[in-house]
Amino acid sequence: MFDAETLPFGVFTALDQPGVRRVGVAVEDRILDLSQARIPHPALFAYGTLDPFLVAGPEVWDRVRDALLEGVGGPYLPMSEATMHVPFTVADYVDFYASEYHAANLGRLFRPGGDPLTPNWRHQPLAYHGRAGGVVVSGSTVVRPSGQYVPHGAHTPVFGPSERLDFEAELGFVVGVPSALGTPVSTAFFADHVFGVCLVNDWSARDLQAWEYIPLGPFLSKSFATSVSPWVVPLAALQDVRVPVPSSSGPLAAYLRETADWGLDIGLEVRLNGETVSRPPYRTTHWSPAQMVAHLTVNGAALRTGDLLASGTVSGPGDGEEGSLIELTHGGEKPLELPGGASRAWLEDYDEVTVSASLADGRYLGEVAGRVLPAVG
Ligand code: MN
Repeated sequence: MFDAETLPFGVFTALDQPGVRRVGVAVEDRILDLSQARIPHPALFAYGTLDPFLVAGPEVWDRVRDALLEGVGGPYLPMSEATMHVPFTVADYVDFYASEYHAANLGRLFRPGGDPLTPNWRHQPLAYHGRAGGVVVSGSTVVRPSGQYVPHGAHTPVFGPSERLDFEAELGFVVGVPSALGTPVSTAFFADHVFGVCLVNDWSARDLQAWEYIPLGPFLSKSFATSVSPWVVPLAALQDVRVPVPSSSGPLAAYLRETADWGLDIGLEVRLNGETVSRPPYRTTHWSPAQMVAHLTVNGAALRTGDLLASGTVSGPGDGEEGSLIELTHGGEKPLELPGGASRAWLEDYDEVTVSASLADGRYLGEVAGRVLPAVG
């Protein structure tokens, strides 16, 4: 449950008015209905989407947050009586690869015998472009994708439902203020553009991925669904958990140096059918979101309102800190043993995956859940 000072923003419909989307703020187990609350800039909250508020920028974000912290009268709704939605129009979805432990674990599995990290990895935050249209809100089901893959021990591809469906536990950073095409956004201006953070599960079909990712990167193995938490926590609520990232020491291109710490001491937890299977520590992530934004724009590419910039799978150095099944099970070789005698090398139909997170000071940051449905056909 969110405390009274985190104050994340979301979009909901009430059970008795399912057609009317409203912007709200979570306060403990209730939602403050901003479409009817007495707050600064009420017109920004009249459209059932966060888009106008996101584009309004840091001064407005702070003014509204300050008013909320002082306490706002207004209609409150029990969270249990609301249905949540993706709270903003997702513009571009970009998924980075910012965790060194995740990148190295995958490098060992996909390129055995070689250097776990590719030569470029320590020099720049790598990423692929995902598919914005596949972003769904927590609670949505995910249909097992079909595609081409080469079965274990075979040499030619077959077509069928993925047999290696996986999750990826990540943070997502939500862009509010756009930038101009041709004008890089330096790390110093990160918080002038990025509004807040949510949780992301980047569902991944590892067998499809292995067969398609060379030479242009993941495509159908990722684009079928990406789940996000419904509440976006403002960066302003994260001040107390900001920490240096590992890349802040060591040689670095000038445009990737941070002028302020934007690492975040956030602990993730992954539950599979209710059982905790991993606790990935985001603070060990090599590249900060400010470095991600600086890199994304250094060639002149622009930020757009609603861009979702995900961290990539968060994995720590220890056992039980891996943010995906492919790492937890060593590529499926060592299935996870679950209570009650069940085991999982990969996700099975009807499995439910929940990624939740809390800040180092104990505050709740949210959760994203999703259940796997059988392949179509
Ligand atoms: Mn990912």
